[in-house]
Amino acid sequence: MNGRITVPVPVNEPVRSYAPGTPERRELQAELARHDGLDPLDIPLIIGGEEVRTGDTERAVAPHDHQRTLAHWHQAGPTEVGRAIEASKSAWQEWSRMSWEDRAAVFLRAADLLAGPWRQRVNAATMLGQSKTVHQAEIDAACELIDFIRFNVHFAEEIASQQPRSPSGMWNRLEYRPLEGFIYAVTPFNFTAIAGNLPAAPALMGNVVLWKPSTAAMYSNYLVMKIFEEAGLPPGVINFVPGDPPTVTEALIDHEDFAGLHYTGSTSVFKQLWKKIGDGLDGYHNYPRIVGETGGKDFIVAHASADPEAVKTAILRGAFEYQGQKCSAVSRVYLPEGMWSEIREPLLRETEAIAMGDPTDFRNFMGAVIHEASFEKVTGYIDRAAAASDAEVIAGGTYDDAKGWFVRPTIIETTNPQYESMREEIFGPVVTVYAYPEEEWEETLRLVDQTSPYGLTGAVFSRDRAEARRAMDMLRHAAGNFYVNDKPTGSVVGQQPFGGGRASGTNDKAGSSMNLLRWVSARSIKETFVPATDYRYPSMAEDEE
Ligand code: NAD
Repeated sequence: MNGRITVPVPVNEPVRSYAPGTPERRELQAELARHDGLDPLDIPLIIGGEEVRTGDTERAVAPHDHQRTLAHWHQAGPTEVGRAIEASKSAWQEWSRMSWEDRAAVFLRAADLLAGPWRQRVNAATMLGQSKTVHQAEIDAACELIDFIRFNVHFAEEIASQQPRSPSGMWNRLEYRPLEGFIYAVTPFNFTAIAGNLPAAPALMGNVVLWKPSTAAMYSNYLVMKIFEEAGLPPGVINFVPGDPPTVTEALIDHEDFAGLHYTGSTSVFKQLWKKIGDGLDGYHNYPRIVGETGGKDFIVAHASADPEAVKTAILRGAFEYQGQKCSAVSRVYLPEGMWSEIREPLLRETEAIAMGDPTDFRNFMGAVIHEASFEKVTGYIDRAAAASDAEVIAGGTYDDAKGWFVRPTIIETTNPQYESMREEIFGPVVTVYAYPEEEWEETLRLVDQTSPYGLTGAVFSRDRAEARRAMDMLRHAAGNFYVNDKPTGSVVGQQPFGGGRASGTNDKAGSSMNLLRWVSARSIKETFVPATDYRYPSMAEDEE
C-alpha cells in the first residue's frame, strides 16, 4: 500500500544579517570579488532543456555602473518561441501526469539549492544586475523565493485535501488537473523572487510554461532557471525565452494551446495583453486564465494621534528602500498639519543623509534606478515639481547618470492633493507629502480612497483605536494589503498574502492557495458502488387499491 504522504511544514527562511564578521558576509564578498575578473556571461535561451543561441544578443548591465557588461543574452524570435511551445507540449505528456510528490520534491530541492549552495550567487547577481543592496537582495532573491516555493508546496497539499462529501452508496472526488496547454509567465525586473515564482507556481501544479524574463533582470533570472534545472525539473516544463517583449508575445498569444498568463509588471502592459487575449478567444481550446499583479500608488495616512517617529521611519523605509522600485513603495503621504511641522525638518535631514551608491559597498542604503528609461521618467517628475506652482521639491531632487542611473531620494510637498505625483505611479525614490487640516480627517480618508486608480498597498498610523478602525472601513477597497502602524512594504509569504484590486491587478495573492487554484481545472468524479438497474422511479408505481 502507498503511504499517505504529507509535505514538510514550511517555515520562513531566516533573513541573514551580513553584519561584519559573519560567514554570510565573507561568502557574499568573495562571490562579488569573483565577478571582478569574469568575462561577461553568455546567456542562452533554454528550450526543451537545450541551450539555444540565436546570435541576436543584448547587453545586461549594472544599473549603478552602466558601462559594466554583466552578460550578453540571446533573444528569441518567432522560430524559437514556436520550438518552445512544441517542447512544452511534449513535456506536458509526462509532467501533467507525474505524481504530486515527485513534482513537489523537485521544487523543494530547488528551494534548498537556493538556500544553500546557490544563495550567494543569486544574491550577488541581484545586487549587480538589479542594483539591490545586500539586505534587499537577501530578502528577495534568497528568502522570498525560497518561501514562495516551500509555502506553495504546502498550499498545494491543502488544495488537494479539499474534497467533496460522499453520502452512502457513492464516492465523490475532486481531481485537480493542470490546464490543457501552456502558461505564459511574463515577469518584472524588480523582484528575483517574483520572476522565479511566476513560472514555478503553475509548474508545481503540473503545468508547462514559457517564461519571458524582464530584459532588465536577465542575470539573476537565468541563474534561477539553472537552479530549476539542477533540481531535476524535466526538460521543457519551464522554457526560458528571453527576447523583445512584443516579438515573443506575438509569436505565442494566438496559439490554440495558450492556456494562461501569469504576469507581474506595469498596468498598461497588462491591459494590452488582456486585450490581445480577448481578440484571440475564438481560436483557443480553453478560456485562458489571466492572473496579473500590476502597479500601485501606495499611501501612508496618519491620524493626529499617531506616533510621529513611527510615521517618519515608515516614510523613509517605505519610500526609499530599493530606490522606491517596489510595487508597494510609499509614494503619497497624508499627514495632519501639526505632525507635518513636527517631523518635516528631521525627515528632510535624514533623507539628505541617506547613503547612495554602488550596492557592493555595503554601507549604502540605496543603489541606482534600473535603466535609462526609468531615470528619464523619474527625473521628469522631479523637474516638473520643481517648476510647479502647487508643488515644491523639499529634499533630494538631484540626479546624475554619468556612471549609473542615480536619483537622490526626493520629497515633494504639495498643496494640491490631486497633483500628478499624488496620483500617478512613478516607480522611483520620490514621495509626495500633503498636509491636511486636522479637522478634515474623514474628508482626507475619502481623498486617499479616490485619488488614484490603484488599490495595492496602504497604511494608517493611529494610536486611537476607533480612528484606526474608521480608516480600515473607509479604505476597505483602497488597498489589497493594508497595514496598521507599519510601513506598507515588506510583505512576507505565508504571513501577508500579496496583491491588490482596482487597477493594481486581479488580486490572486501570490504565494497563496488562491493563486495556485488559478492553475488547475478541477474534475469532479462521482463513482456509484451499486448502480441503478431500473429507469423508473418509485413515485411512478400505481396506487394500491
Ligand atoms: P514592465 O511593465 O516594464 O515589464 C513587465 C514585464 O512585461 C517584463 O517582462 C517586460 O519585458 C514585459 N513587457 C513589456 N512590454 C511588453 C509588451 N508590449 N508585451 C509583452 N510583454 C511586455 O514592468 P517592470 O518595469 O518590469 O516592473 C515594474 C512594474 O511592475 C511597476 O508598475 C510595479 O508596480 C509592477 N509590479 C507589481 C507587483 C505586484 O505584485 N502588484 C510586483 C512587482 C512589480
